[in-house]
Amino acid sequence: MPLYKTQNLKIYNSLSGEKEVFIPLHEGNVGMYVCGPTVYSNVHLGNVRTFMSFDVVFRYLSHLGYKVRYVRNITDVGHVVDDEDEGEDKIAKKARVEKLEPMEIVQRYTVDFHEILKEFNFLPPSIEPTATGHIIEQIEIIKKIIDNGIGYVSNGSVYFDVLKYNETHNYGILSGRNLEDMIANTRELDGQSDKRNPQDFALWKRAEPEHIMRWPSPWSDGFPGWHLECTAMSTKYLGNHFDIHGGGMDLKFPHHECEIAQNEACTGQSPVNYWMHANMLTLNGKKMAKSTGNNILPREIYAGGSPFLSKKYSPSVARFFMLQAHYRSNLDFTDDAIAASEKGFVRLMEAYDTINEITPSQSSTIDIQAWIAACYDAMNDDFNTPILIAQLFEAVRYINLLKENKETLTAEDLSLLTKAMESFLFDVLGLTNEKSLENNDKLDSVVNMLIGMRNEARANKDFALSDTIRDQLTALGINLKDGKEGTTFSIN
Ligand code: AMP
Ligand code: ZN
Repeated sequence: MPLYKTQNLKIYNSLSGEKEVFIPLHEGNVGMYVCGPTVYSNVHLGNVRTFMSFDVVFRYLSHLGYKVRYVRNITDVGHVVDDEDEGEDKIAKKARVEKLEPMEIVQRYTVDFHEILKEFNFLPPSIEPTATGHIIEQIEIIKKIIDNGIGYVSNGSVYFDVLKYNETHNYGILSGRNLEDMIANTRELDGQSDKRNPQDFALWKRAEPEHIMRWPSPWSDGFPGWHLECTAMSTKYLGNHFDIHGGGMDLKFPHHECEIAQNEACTGQSPVNYWMHANMLTLNGKKMAKSTGNNILPREIYAGGSPFLSKKYSPSVARFFMLQAHYRSNLDFTDDAIAASEKGFVRLMEAYDTINEITPSQSSTIDIQAWIAACYDAMNDDFNTPILIAQLFEAVRYINLLKENKETLTAEDLSLLTKAMESFLFDVLGLTNEKSLENNDKLDSVVNMLIGMRNEARANKDFALSDTIRDQLTALGINLKDGKEGTTFSIN
């Protein structure tokens, strides 16, 4: 019997503002869509946190025995600077600045995104569609919205008529915004826009002559609007009505509000049963942003080079650090906080490594079933990873007492404890048992010490010794390279 039959998973639904029992549309199956990155620059640690939140959702649903179709797109056109319809496409802008083809930018940063996610042990989604691969689907949706009287063509572009839509629907249903307030708070347009009202948003934009990213459409050679892309890609693979849609909190408005409006205007249905929004990551109390320099690249965590970090941390430590906060809480990244997480992580993994030192007994003094139930309760309560981790530390306490024979477990209960630890640590939280990069740092120091000794030998014209040091390092797969700046090394 699949686990989901005995578990009572609740998900906080941003649409209702409540935790709701999760009931998928089709028993045993889950359709989940998560807004992917706009591939115009390296992903930052904040992006990684959001995607990690949904990686854990995907992992837990799969662990429960659901067959999950997880769609996470790549936004490779149509996302304009500052999310304003009049701005320049982020990818086109980067291509112009770097004198590259937009698709070269897309390729570069898609590869980077995949590399980073692999380092942090993400599971790949089931489908990873690109916006440029779904232009035809997007044009078809626009046609329907126009036919239904809620889209209008203006100067080759197509806009969504928010006021018209709001006559029969509630624009603001997800974000809690009120259209009248939005109108009151909007500056008057300076006549530059083709929109009827400033609240309207672009479904299709006519491309300026210099714009390379363009496709033919009934209205103009142009490109789709960002919000429409996600509507097209989610409904193509999951249907007009599906289970879960996720993204960062900052996407609730306008992006997700617009997705609901588009789907309603096109199909008459609200697309999603459970809307999930992950909270932001800050750095030393401030928003992470490229423009202010207040950011850490994910790679800097394990490769070093960030002024914000006193040392390197393994990707699993970073993962552990992020999962020690609930996905709907703000999380502040500081050097001290991740250093504390590393200590906890090492303690957890060391305890796990010593389970096999425990000798089983005839009887159990610990109720392992109750402990396992508490782990599930934590995850069933809107994926509460910090509570789950607290339960895993409870298991560390058990393991230490069991090793000292202060508590006992039968062989059967011991096997249950071991299996549950493995499931939660590795399958659900996605951690790997790599502990810390401390040993790598130590190896670097030792090789540098030998390089220093070799330099001394050479200065003393003791070439026999200097050659021996180099040759023996080579035999170990550590190659020295003498250059102008001194000697460097690489490890095979
Ligand atoms: P983007 O590539 O800008 O579309 O963002 C990709 C995802 O990362 C979206 O779901 C954003 O909401 C999310 N995101 C952006 N900044 C942060 C942040 N500082 N913390 C957490 N998530 C973020
Ligand atoms: Zn999206």
